[in-house]
Amino acid sequence: MADENKVKDVLLGVVVGDALGVPVEFIPRKGLQNEPVTGMRAYGTHRQPAGTWSDDSSLTFCLAEMLCNGYDLQALAERFVDWKEAAYWTAHGEVFDIGIATSAAIYSLQKGVPPLQAGGDDEHSNGNGSLMRILPLLFYIKDRPVEERYRIIGEVSSLTHRHVRSVNACFIYLEMARQLLLGKDKWEAYRNMARDVNTFLHAHPVRSQREIDIFHRILENPIGDYVIRPLYDFEEEEMYSTGYVLHTLEASLWCLLHTDNYADAVLKAVNLGHDTDTTGAVTGGLAGILYGRESIPEAWLQVLARRTDIEQLADRLYHKMYS
Ligand SMILES: [Mg+2]
Repeated sequence: MADENKVKDVLLGVVVGDALGVPVEFIPRKGLQNEPVTGMRAYGTHRQPAGTWSDDSSLTFCLAEMLCNGYDLQALAERFVDWKEAAYWTAHGEVFDIGIATSAAIYSLQKGVPPLQAGGDDEHSNGNGSLMRILPLLFYIKDRPVEERYRIIGEVSSLTHRHVRSVNACFIYLEMARQLLLGKDKWEAYRNMARDVNTFLHAHPVRSQREIDIFHRILENPIGDYVIRPLYDFEEEEMYSTGYVLHTLEASLWCLLHTDNYADAVLKAVNLGHDTDTTGAVTGGLAGILYGRESIPEAWLQVLARRTDIEQLADRLYHKMYS
């Protein structure tokens, strides 16, 4: 019987989704149709053993480590540098996957650029690189007012991604996670998230209607005469799974809404193809909270690299956040 440690649900949810996607990263959806992923595979894209996780999880664990010692962006920056330079929090002592924006931002951090200015802030720097690593922040912000939640999310995203679109994507993701953590079922969580995010973004001093409209599939906002369809109603062919932050967020919520257990949610995400590990990780984090880690197939956990280290990290963060 699992304890109530929701931090463990989050960390294992993310890392298992990531590891399922690693062997098939970059493979297009059509390429997976004849041989869909059904469990942990070895080798493939990055030639790694089964259960190997990637940058998504490494940077997620860096954030969890930072939070264990108290919120400190400079400390987070140092952990990111340690990861890139010294393979800190890697599965097997090797960095085999790094995003372009993340790589450039960590290089800036190494050169002494302040954390809040390190990430790219132009419209084309909106890959999913901050979304994929942000979920442990949930435990630090969950009881704070929404203005503070948004500000802190913006800070943590900005180390690698500081454009408002990346920040808003992280905000939507964490608001959904927060509703699930409160114990709402996925439909109520989704409705509450969309309501709260809409209310906040429309009242926010730096609101940009265009940047709100971009999330119309998720927030279900009317735009002119455009007929609004709920995200749930979109067909798989209409869902993208590239490395663009909007695509990853939409696909992850869509996978969660279209399945009713952890394994189906992450397998649906991975089998969308393309950025499989990140779509798997982002979906897996939400599914971990919703269904609990006891719903993760034990066979997958058994081959997971550094499972004990991850569980101990979750214990440390849980005690820091809940005592
Ligand atoms: Mg990755």
